[in-house]
Parts: sequence; structure tokens; C-alpha cells
Amino acid sequence: MANTQDFNLQTPTWCPGCGDWGIGAAIKSSFVQLGYEPSDVCVVFGIGCSGNMNDFLKAYGLHSLHGRAIASAVGIKLANNALPVVVIAGDGDSYGEGGNHFLHACRGNHDITVIVHDNGVYGLTTGQVAPTALHGAVSKSTPSGIIEMPISPLALAITQGATFVAQSFAGDMHHIVDMIKLGIQHKGFSLVNILQPCVTFNWKNNYHYYFKHSYKLPKEYDPTDQDNAVKTASAMMQESFPLGVVYETSRPSYHEQIVRPEKESSLEDLLNEFE
Ligand code: SF4
Repeated sequence: MANTQDFNLQTPTWCPGCGDWGIGAAIKSSFVQLGYEPSDVCVVFGIGCSGNMNDFLKAYGLHSLHGRAIASAVGIKLANNALPVVVIAGDGDSYGEGGNHFLHACRGNHDITVIVHDNGVYGLTTGQVAPTALHGAVSKSTPSGIIEMPISPLALAITQGATFVAQSFAGDMHHIVDMIKLGIQHKGFSLVNILQPCVTFNWKNNYHYYFKHSYKLPKEYDPTDQDNAVKTASAMMQESFPLGVVYETSRPSYHEQIVRPEKESSLEDLLNEFE
């Protein structure tokens, strides 16, 4: 059985104190606890500080184009339905450049797990605001404060058809491990949005901020109540961040619904078709 060191590649180059450290360690622990060897799982990385994990995590991996991690993961899952496929990307990659792919992966209920490092900035390009930046956030690209309202990723996922939506916090590794394991075990599209302080470029959303503004969902919370889940998720716009499984339901995933031809075409059949 593998241990977390079996998933190590190079030593990470993240800034000291970055939330990516905790998330990276939690992802390895999750894989070990699920009984995976590095060759049992395929990980698709976006572009950004989180995507640099491509060099730090040993597994079947693809470092995709910016905003195209989810689309690549969907393709891999369609080609090999039995392979667990995990996306590791930032909020810019997932909800900005890749926002269209995110919506369509939710509505298709593609059986992949998307782990988002949600830090509100483009850290790799030195700190421009990203889609979850709070209204008024000051950055290099918004010196007078961002005018737009933040995206509410959990509400977006729930309303677009995702069947598992959870949130965690980079300062609580055990909680991240629990959420990732549940997300991967879920059959269908699963989102694990992780609140991740960027200690270098996002001075507002630091560890102290999230300790103050996040809360664990109580035991009596019902994640199957969609209306309440949307309400709970939308409260993030008012700086109240739920931690836990916010929404979960069950419906067939995309690949389970594909109607296969009775007889698979051979290469020869295909060539004959085009003669
Ligand atoms: Fe982490 Fe921000 Fe440094 Fe990137 S720039 S490694 S997100 S602290």
C-alpha cells in the first residue's frame, strides 16, 4: 500500500505560508486513504500556482492549457470510465477562463472531481483579481477596488447541475481530506472549493479572515435540500463561508447514459465508411 511519500516528486516552490502547502499535503493523504497507488489516478492541472503541483505530485498527470483543465479531464474520463479523474486548478482557471467548461461539466454530471484552490487572485502572474475576489478588493489590476461582485462558485455549481458541492479551508487539513475523499467517491460531478490564503498577494483573505468568517455546517444540516443549499452557498457574497458538504444529490453521470452501439466499429469499418 502506498504512503504519502510515494506521491512526492519535486519539493514545492510555493511561498512560505501559502495555503497550497496544506492542500497539496491533504490531496496526497486523500489518495493514500482511498488506497490509491500513483498509477491509479489521473490528475489534470490548470495553470497557476496550484497548477505547479504538476511538478510536485506523482500520479498520471496532464498540465493543461489555462482554463482547459476541466475539458481535458472530461475527455480522459470519457476515454476511460474506470479511471478516477481529478482536476487541480485555481479559481481563475476554473471560474474565469474555464468558466464555460465548468458550467457544462456540471450540467453533464461528468464523473470527475474538481478541486479548486480559491484565493481570489492570479498568484502566478503576481496578484491580479480573480473571479472570487470580494467586491472592492484592491490589487495591481484594480487599484481603486474591483467593481464587479464575486462569483458564488458553490451556488453556480448547484444551480447548473453539479451533484456534489463541498467547501473546505486550507487551514484545516483533516477537513480537506474528508471533503476530497467524499468528492472522489461520489458518482457524478463533484466540486471541492477550498478557501486558500495567498499570503503574498491577497492581504484581506488571510488565515485570520477565514477563521473569523467561515463555519462548519451543523450536523442537522440537510445537503439534499437544494433551495437551502443555494441560500447557504450564496451567503458567501456576504462573507459567510460554509465548510462541509453543502449539496449532494444523485443522478446518472454522463458516461453512464451514453448509448453504446450493439457492435463496436472496427478501424476497418470506419475506413470503409469514408471510402
Ligand atoms: Fe501561494 Fe500566492 Fe505565493 Fe502563489 S503567490 S505560491 S498563491 S502565496
